[in-house]
This record gives sequence, C-alpha cells and structure tokens, in this order.
Amino acid sequence: MKEIVLSPELSRELAQVYSSMVARYDQVATDIGLSCQGCPDNCCDSYFLHHTYAEWAYLWEGLRELPEEKLEAIINRAKKYVEESRKKLLKKERPQLMCPLIDDGLCGLYKHRLLVCRMHGIPATMTRPDGQSMRFPGCFRCQEIVEEKYQREEDAPAMDRTSLFQQMVAVETKLLDEKRHLFPRVKLTIAEMIVQGPPAVATPHCER
Ligand code: SF4
Ligand code: SF4
Repeated sequence: MKEIVLSPELSRELAQVYSSMVARYDQVATDIGLSCQGCPDNCCDSYFLHHTYAEWAYLWEGLRELPEEKLEAIINRAKKYVEESRKKLLKKERPQLMCPLIDDGLCGLYKHRLLVCRMHGIPATMTRPDGQSMRFPGCFRCQEIVEEKYQREEDAPAMDRTSLFQQMVAVETKLLDEKRHLFPRVKLTIAEMIVQGPPAVATPHCER
C-alpha cells in the first residue's frame, strides 16, 4: 500500500479552503446571532460520514503532530467508537457517540477538524452540479433564532457552500492526480479514519 499524502502546497490550499469556510461561518453566525456558547447540545456526538481522501490525509497530518500517548488514547477511543457505532447501525439506530477527538470537552484537533465540523450549525445553501438548489436550516438552536427573528426562513442569511465544495473537489482531484474516479469512494466516520490509519492505495505487485 502506498500512503496518500498531501504535498505542502496542497495542504496549504486545503487550509485556505477551511479558513474561508470559517470566515463565512462566523459572518453568518454573527448576523443571525448564533453562538455555541452555553448551548445544551454538543454536536460532536453527531454521526457524520466524510468523503474525501484530502480531509482524511489532513486529519492524519494533525494526528502525527500529537504526543505519542495522546495519539494512543485517541486511537483507543476511536476503536471503541467504531465498535459501538457498528452495534447501533446493526440495530438500525443512528449512533450518537462522542467523537474520539474530544479531549476535556473540547476538540483535541481543532486546527485539523473536518469540513462538516466547520459548517454545521448555520443555514446554508448549495447549487448541485445538476443545477438543483438546496437549503439547509442549520442546527435546532439556529432554527429557533431564525423563527423568532425572521418572517420567512429564506430571509435569514445563509452560507453558500457551492464554491467551497468546488474548491474542496479541486484539492481532491489534484491529490488523486486527476484520477479521482479510479479510487474507491470514501465514506467514513472520523473514528474509522483514525482506526484505519492514513489513507493509502494498493500498489501493483510488479513495480518497475
Ligand atoms: S451548532 Fe448549534 S446545536 Fe451545535 S453546539 Fe452549536 S449552537 Fe449548539
Ligand atoms: S473533529 Fe473536533 S469538532 Fe469535529 S466532531 Fe470531532 S471533536 Fe468535534
């Protein structure tokens, strides 16, 4: 197996996409008046699947910077997460388990958290490649504020995810050397990305 690694340039490009997301998130959250401070919920127990090799590799960039014992503790929590989530899924239940990266109530890998972690909460819009428009209402707390403050849901500001997703796809395409279609689809939780180790691709038996 050959590890899929982000070059320093691609890693910077992805970090830039993430920063744009955070800036847009902050703008919309401020306009609406949404803050996670004091929220009775903790969204880090939500069950999300992630879909790019780029994010998987970026997550591992962060994990490798951690002290050995911290990484070991995370891997152990991730193994438990995977085991528990599979049990829930077998019972056709949606898992609600704390992300293995939570450390003392906070994200232990904040700089390397994934796209979903940076977008969840505020209203968002997106135009799909087939031209269909979508709108997402945001978390329960956001929906309560929107209902109180705006006449119609669509009057509330929203983050347009379209260009950000396009930029993410561009990073993924470069990482996979323009052969994205040849790679197996990624559909993993953060815990699975940790347990499986960094992303890798099978190498042919006879390499010259
Ligand atoms: S995103 Fe919403 S539900 Fe989640 S912690 Fe923040 S305010 Fe609470
Ligand atoms: S990566 Fe960090 S922000 Fe994302 S779910 Fe895990 S602990 Fe929460």
